[in-house]
Amino acid sequence: MTAPAEAPATGTGAPPACRGRFAPSPTGPLHFGSLVSALASWLDARAHGGTWLVRIEDVDAPRTVPGAAQDILATLARFGMHADEPPVWQSERSERYQQVFAQLEDGGFVYPCGCTRREIADSLLHAHARHTTLAYPGTCRDGLHGKPARAWRLRVPDGDAAIITFNDAWQGLQTQNLATEVGDFVLKRADGQWAYQLAVVTDDADAGITHVVRGADLLDSTARQIYLQRCMGAATPSYLHVPVVTNELGEKLSKQTGAIALDTDNPLAALHAAAAHLGLDMGNNVRSESLGTFYRNATRAWSERLAQLETREQT
Ligand code: GLU
Repeated sequence: MTAPAEAPATGTGAPPACRGRFAPSPTGPLHFGSLVSALASWLDARAHGGTWLVRIEDVDAPRTVPGAAQDILATLARFGMHADEPPVWQSERSERYQQVFAQLEDGGFVYPCGCTRREIADSLLHAHARHTTLAYPGTCRDGLHGKPARAWRLRVPDGDAAIITFNDAWQGLQTQNLATEVGDFVLKRADGQWAYQLAVVTDDADAGITHVVRGADLLDSTARQIYLQRCMGAATPSYLHVPVVTNELGEKLSKQTGAIALDTDNPLAALHAAAAHLGLDMGNNVRSESLGTFYRNATRAWSERLAQLETREQT
């Protein structure tokens, strides 16, 4: 297997039309943190005159809460965010993930891993004590050593080829060494579930997503996703990671950290708070009278924010 090269620029000159998306995991109702991501991706698509899609990320069946996806979609509609195409459900795409996985296997990018969680945790503990890498040590790279296959991993390259660099439109230049910071990562889990990384990259590629806008908690996954795109021969979209919303303990808002569902009776209050979190200058700070006014002002403010971020890049 040779490390895949960066995908060459394709096409006949004109950049593809902007396609953005919001990809919630249905583990609970929409909360303020996920509203911020939804709003940012919506505004970004609109500011680029593009299309906005919704994908329900229910690939992780054990974590999916029944009814949560419908609840999220209803809340988005109540807040005035309507997807331009029918939502995609990851739970309906297993066959497609299998197809992509088989292609990666054929390309020699994937190998079976027989390590148990316990064995990996032990080797990481030893590595920690020795102050060496915390990445998966590659125990099964050259064979299963008589153990049964549990998970399937993508082989990351060694040396300079492992360094992935990208420019995040909000967070600036990012670099990650996949070999030393991540290691060969799982595409198919021991419980038979497809891993998030494989599903996201396949879905974004199939939907022709050009602009990924999401929370900064996913910044750390991006290098893996870019490498996977290269292995699959898929184009790399542009990335923009917005600051995550945290609680008073500094933890990312989630169901586990006590995020409460949004007050759907008062969408404008929550939307203004989300715009403030994104640092949008909404003019004289007067509450918009309608969702239409809010989105018009917020789209203008988002474009200004993007221009500011770009200027910062150049200075
Ligand atoms: N499903 C992920 C989440 O809810 C988002 C994935 C993405 O936007 O790429 O955190």
